[in-house]
Amino acid sequence: MNAQPKASHHIGGTYVEDDAGAVIESVYPATGELNARLHSATPAIVEQAVQAARAAQPAWATLKGVERGRILLRTAQLLRERNEELSRIETLDTGKAIQETLVADAASAADALEYFGGLAGAITGEHVDLGGDFVYTRREALGVCAGIGAWNYPIQIAAWKSAPALACGNAFIFKPSEMTPLTALLLAEAFKDAGLPDGIFGVVQGYGDVGAALASHPDIAKVSLTGSVPTGAKVLGAAAETIKSVTMELGGKSPILVFDDADLESAIGGAMLGNFYSTGQICSNGTRVFVQRGVYDAFLERLKIRTEAIRLGDPLDPDTHLGPMVSMAQRDKVLGYIEAGKREGGRLVTGGGVPEMQGFENGAWIQPTVFADVSDEMTIAREEIFGPVMSVLVFDDEAEALRRANATEFGLAAGVFTADLSRAHRVVSQLEAGTTWINTYNLTPVEAPFGGVKQSGIGRENSRAAIEYYTQLKSVYVATGPVDSPY
Ligand code: NAD
Repeated sequence: MNAQPKASHHIGGTYVEDDAGAVIESVYPATGELNARLHSATPAIVEQAVQAARAAQPAWATLKGVERGRILLRTAQLLRERNEELSRIETLDTGKAIQETLVADAASAADALEYFGGLAGAITGEHVDLGGDFVYTRREALGVCAGIGAWNYPIQIAAWKSAPALACGNAFIFKPSEMTPLTALLLAEAFKDAGLPDGIFGVVQGYGDVGAALASHPDIAKVSLTGSVPTGAKVLGAAAETIKSVTMELGGKSPILVFDDADLESAIGGAMLGNFYSTGQICSNGTRVFVQRGVYDAFLERLKIRTEAIRLGDPLDPDTHLGPMVSMAQRDKVLGYIEAGKREGGRLVTGGGVPEMQGFENGAWIQPTVFADVSDEMTIAREEIFGPVMSVLVFDDEAEALRRANATEFGLAAGVFTADLSRAHRVVSQLEAGTTWINTYNLTPVEAPFGGVKQSGIGRENSRAAIEYYTQLKSVYVATGPVDSPY
């Protein structure tokens, strides 16, 4: 499975290597085969990337918005033309089925580049009339921004962060997860081919220490992390030293509420997509499925049948629904949660183990798993598992469901399935989450703000809201008469 890039890093518009950095291995999780061997950035590489970005950013920020936007739009076009190859590499790096990567990874990155490319010319300040004198505001770039990614949506995360950053006139340095280093480099190539000035988008590989170096670097104005809550706390701490802006897209333990008047097949479909897509490795997954008592048994019966029909198999086969998890370590962590679920009294409805996969014996495979009769105190109902494990809990009335759904330190996402319109809006207004759905789950179009409340995050990605997180306001007071001074 050779997917060796030309070099580990992409700085100042070209590939750069420094063999002195620790080795990073990209492994195809379906088989355990090596895709590529790269190197983590040394301090010299990080410095090179920061200085290349610093040197290039001022000229980029003085271009007209439409000129910046044009380059983002061209980049989007290139990603679409290269989608098949990008998807294949994303599948090799993550193990996710090609059926998914063809539609949800580079394609979603292109969506973000198109959206923010289009918006770039419409980023404006405002005018405030003071009856003669006036104030106007300028929405200015922050400078050099950094992004730190998770491994579940590598190129999507790189683009969701860099597209608004670049549209606003910033330079951007991205550190992919050490588990999935490959496609961010191909995004850098697409930017280069689309005419982005050298230095405006850089990629440095690395483990947590490289992320920490970016988060604490005095020449970096902002850091945006997609990762777990504990990493978020560390990055926030590092950013505090130099008073950086931050965007934090962190973990979750999101609830889905299914009322007994819901369209049951849709609710089951939503719950399955919200637990099993990307082999359960999605931050906004609705891993606590609260089902009202009247439809509880029927829900579980159909859920079991539909879950057992999920096709696991060769991730490069377009008919395969689910690939393996990203790594053996993640798989083993999830198996540990499944054991805890059994030990603490959850009723295993289906799955719970490692499937036999002919030809893929060394892969990080796991069965899609459903636990029923889960109670709020169980470990599987409290902690983020980040694997294909759904917990189903029964409830009696709306107030109880809301109280239990909100009883968590997380607040990333939530969903409600009901045919009662008033209830849908009432419930959503009381759910403590940044991103919510009514009668569907996990749809995240670039036009809608995405992000969390409570410990799930700070700030929003996507939509016009993202512009606020990649710009700062300067207010300009303009006098139209003489200065009125008592001295
Ligand atoms: P992680 O927190 O282990 O790592 C995330 C990134 O942070 C990696 O690139 C890692 O190298 C880097 N990192 C680690 N220590 C660091 C430090 N001290 N300073 C700076 N950077 C550091 O997360 P993961 O295992 O890669 O991803 C899974 C987690 O990400 C889950 O909790 C999931 O919910 C979350 N996630 C959130 C979103 C979202 O948008 N809210 C999306 C995807 C994943």
